[in-house]
Amino acid sequence: MSTSTFKKVAVIGAGTMGAGIAGQVANAGIEVWLLDLASEGERVNALAERGMERLQDPDAPGLMSDAAAENIHLGNIRDDFDQLADCDWIAEAVVERLDIKQDLYRRINDVCRDDAIITSNTSTIPISLLTQGMPQSFCERFAITHFFNPVRFMRLLELVRGEQTRDDVMEQLDAFCDQQLGKGVVHCADTPGFLGNRVGVYAIQCALHTAFEMGLSPAEADALFGRPMGIPKTGVFGLYDLIGIDLMSDVVKSLVNILPAEDDFHTVAAEIPLMTTMIANGQTGNKNGQGFFRDVPTDNPDITNREVLDLSNNEYQPYTRLELPLALQAEAQGVQVLLDDDSRYGEYAWQVLSRTLCYAASLIPEVGTILSRSMMP
Ligand code: NAD
Repeated sequence: MSTSTFKKVAVIGAGTMGAGIAGQVANAGIEVWLLDLASEGERVNALAERGMERLQDPDAPGLMSDAAAENIHLGNIRDDFDQLADCDWIAEAVVERLDIKQDLYRRINDVCRDDAIITSNTSTIPISLLTQGMPQSFCERFAITHFFNPVRFMRLLELVRGEQTRDDVMEQLDAFCDQQLGKGVVHCADTPGFLGNRVGVYAIQCALHTAFEMGLSPAEADALFGRPMGIPKTGVFGLYDLIGIDLMSDVVKSLVNILPAEDDFHTVAAEIPLMTTMIANGQTGNKNGQGFFRDVPTDNPDITNREVLDLSNNEYQPYTRLELPLALQAEAQGVQVLLDDDSRYGEYAWQVLSRTLCYAASLIPEVGTILSRSMMP
């Protein structure tokens, strides 16, 4: 078993993910530089400072201790790029723009050690494109480390290798992320959405389409597609509101364009007319104050009334959380209770779960499912 030798790390991009990754490296007691763009004015490191502030947010702390904070140095890519010269690992987590990422790689290649490992946190861009035009000596030390948000708490890490990535580079990353960062490393092939998003987007699309087909209301579907099925309690319609109905529509379109015609994803990807209307109306979810759900202000500034969309006429009506006895029983005793039930709620759970699991199975070995040592049974 290889052990990590990373002593100094740099993370470029101090947004949601970059700050989170730097925080987790610091939590492991390792020195890390967090760099973002240089800002105008006196506070030249304002963007990196903002990342640090988010890490120290008491409501969602990315850092485990004050001591961890001391492992983080803040900087910018104009004045502090030379800090990369003696880093063991350089993690890029800047905006999802190929040109910006490629430009950074050229600059990194000019200053980094010739045995430094470089990774990207990209969600969508294949390694072949990221490293296009880069020398082989760079490509063989390059991989994707796809962390999830919030980095401190989400255990999954997808590790993706390129055609030229060396075995020892993958082993070092696997060992470091597993043993030092506490992640459950899953090795994925360089395919669209890797594993998590490929299966995850299928699952929520399947839950959505099946709810529309079976005539389930958002309250009914959300009471089932959550804890009773062993997944987070946001519910499918709640999750659409959280992610953004317009953003999800773009994600689905992007996968439709990329995935081959025979991929089962296409069976859950058709546009739903009501949702097209909702996007046009600005009913795009939480960020816009209304989606499948909305909170309506009352005379009392501390109280809002929650409303839910009637899918038959696109009108809001009062919402109360549905307490289905069957769902509560499944939550306590396991999903089998739900799957064995012959009501339409049981049928809904069976449709969504069986199709999602079959889809996940169908992706093996295409997307790759090599688990790291800590996830082995
Ligand atoms: P973000 O918008 O929160 O942060 C991006 C940061 O990059 C910003 O602070 C920006 O100032 C900085 N930046 C832009 N150009 C730069 C440059 N040339 N040099 C240095 N910094 C620069 O984005 P994010 O959500 O943290 O996403 C970062 C990466 O992680 C993207 O590739 C994204 O696809 C991926 N990702 C995001 C999530 C998520 O849930 N947000 C999950 C997994 C992967």
